[in-house]
Amino acid sequence: MKIPFLNLEAEYRALKPEIDAAVARVLASGWYILGEEVRHFEQEFAAFCGAAEAVGVASGTDALLLALRAAGIGPGDEVITVAQTAVATVAAIELSGARPVLVDVEPGRYTLDPALVAAVISPRTRAIVPVHLYGQAADLDPLLAIARQHGLVLIEDCAQAHGARYKGAPVGGLADLAAFSFYPTKNLGALGDGGLVTTNDPKLAERVRLLRQYGWARRYISDIPGTNSRLDELQAAILRVKLAKLEAGNERRRQLAATYDQLLTAEGLRRPETRPECRHVYHLYVVQCAQREELAEYLSEQGIGTAVHYPVPVHLQPAYRRLGYQAGSLPVTEALAGSILSLPLYPHMPEGAVVEVAAAINKFYGASPG
Ligand SMILES: *Cc1c(COP(=O)(O)O)cnc(C)c1O
Repeated sequence: MKIPFLNLEAEYRALKPEIDAAVARVLASGWYILGEEVRHFEQEFAAFCGAAEAVGVASGTDALLLALRAAGIGPGDEVITVAQTAVATVAAIELSGARPVLVDVEPGRYTLDPALVAAVISPRTRAIVPVHLYGQAADLDPLLAIARQHGLVLIEDCAQAHGARYKGAPVGGLADLAAFSFYPTKNLGALGDGGLVTTNDPKLAERVRLLRQYGWARRYISDIPGTNSRLDELQAAILRVKLAKLEAGNERRRQLAATYDQLLTAEGLRRPETRPECRHVYHLYVVQCAQREELAEYLSEQGIGTAVHYPVPVHLQPAYRRLGYQAGSLPVTEALAGSILSLPLYPHMPEGAVVEVAAAINKFYGASPG
């Protein structure tokens, strides 16, 4: 690929001396699980989000699962979320024992439509999990109001939105709990798996700490039944290096997105909608387009990588058919699945490459009849 969809190696190369030094420091320390690196990273990341507490765990999926479990959610409960998301959001809800209740998204913003929530609240509803998809915050204020009114827990899925803001405040400190992923492709990515829960409630943080390690408050004594879901020292040390660069990386993503916005003028293409009250950090730059398959194929022939996030909405995937939704249940989500395309965008992408991608797209539409 001349212009790959993503280039993680370039990011490593740019930070190689610092990352290698961080790795060497951990290797030499003789302490590999839940030590100083995780403790420092948790403090640094909590400060970054403006949250009181942060607890490192093994993945974003586990961050969601342990946040749900810490909030006391389990079998018999219902949790409202979207199907326009990574499958992990819905998988984590099911892993908690609760039943996912799926609602549609706002068509331009791609996030949970607050206007649809009231209609699906039942006596079993315990929580709402909005997803800050592609790097832009969901509309949290109306969701907070609904959650307070009905006594529901609000858990932000921040896996795609490290550093995004809503009304000036960073995501991750705006609800009862929030879950982050450090999967390598995310805006803040480890060199392996990792995740983290933030909260402003020290009691909830303490419960996540217990749950992530066998329910231990003291070693070898389980106070509650827990699991093994720890962020390891190596990944925490690497994440500390990368956290220091996250703001610059997000700014760069915003610049490149602005270039796309300016250059993508073709009819038949809808650029991502941004909200004035949100700081979008462009985990992905997702357009809606006519003739999506043909466009992706055309770009691929020119050596330009693209992707679809996600080709089949969760409620129509084989594993989740049993939830009882059909084609037509979530019309906005389903229409998006057929038209969305994620364009290359990452901090180390040269501006010239964005210009080239935009030119190729404009040419595709200019050349096609109609
Ligand atoms: C990546 C992602 C997750 C899951 O994170 P993992 O670290 O891969 O488990 C959850 N939700 C969303 C929206 C994601 O994009």
